[in-house]
Amino acid sequence: MIFNDYPWLISPYQQLAQAILHNRAHHALLINYIQGSGEDELVQMLANRLLCQASSQLEPCLKCHSCQLFLSHHHPDYYVLTNEQGKQSIGIDQVRSITSKVYEKSQQGGNKVIWVKHAALMTEAAANALLKTLEEPPQNTYFILSDDHNSHLLPTIYSRCFSYFLPVPELDDSVKWLKKQHCQHYSDNELASALLLSENAPLTALALLDQEKWQQRKAFCENLSAVIAQNDFWQLAKTIDNEAFLERIIWFCALLSDALKAKQKVGRFIVNRDQVPLVRLLATKSHQEISALYQIWLQARNQLLTITGLNKELIIYNVLAQSELICSGDNK
Ligand SMILES: [Zn+2]
Repeated sequence: MIFNDYPWLISPYQQLAQAILHNRAHHALLINYIQGSGEDELVQMLANRLLCQASSQLEPCLKCHSCQLFLSHHHPDYYVLTNEQGKQSIGIDQVRSITSKVYEKSQQGGNKVIWVKHAALMTEAAANALLKTLEEPPQNTYFILSDDHNSHLLPTIYSRCFSYFLPVPELDDSVKWLKKQHCQHYSDNELASALLLSENAPLTALALLDQEKWQQRKAFCENLSAVIAQNDFWQLAKTIDNEAFLERIIWFCALLSDALKAKQKVGRFIVNRDQVPLVRLLATKSHQEISALYQIWLQARNQLLTITGLNKELIIYNVLAQSELICSGDNK
């Protein structure tokens, strides 16, 4: 099987490829996913199968001329539409440049496939331009739209598509998979923590378990233990640049959320299974303090993500100062 490297994709692929095999594939497929769950690999395999001109199986033959062209990234009837480097949106000109071609005959005499990657990045004008094509689909033309399950796609586009949610594997299966990816030296608790911090997406967890990255998280957690014990949040300012801070916020909020679970005696649901002592330490704070911390840190994240031009250091210093104020109650 082609998906030997990603065993959890086999069943979703087979499900979707059945429709292709029986010539009843929807002309617009929307794949919703959790980032890092093999979404791009799945789309590419489906595109390959749609373009293959020799297979009578679920899988593409990988041998015909069309497959060869696809595998060498030179298939003339395969288009990938996504945001250009450095841009945060897919513009109407990009959509038009492709929709103008799809009414022409395919160059290889088979299907045409258009992959709209990060479809929610289409501007409203771009989405409306694509909508027209989706409403009057050209023959033998298949659109695959993909985006994160949290993204917001225009409802009109959504209603034109056959929507599919790519499931993530069970936690235990992912732990086993990670162990085969040079992660044997991590404990089961560490592997589970990396997965739970990644919404169970195996490839995102694998990236988080990169030695340097995981070490950074460990150092942050150690640092945080001292910070909480001494109520000295300024320690966090020393080593952190803006970009890294965004990630620390996510880590801290996950720990705070765990602390609340620990307080409510539902500790079995905690995410940071490898940081139980730190979670317990945080759980010594009051419910109010933990919630207040959670709120201001999440707010700081939103500010860092959405507000441009504001001094980012100021936002960081502000959240650290506020954190100390919140926690100063029980240290006096
Ligand atoms: Zn083929």
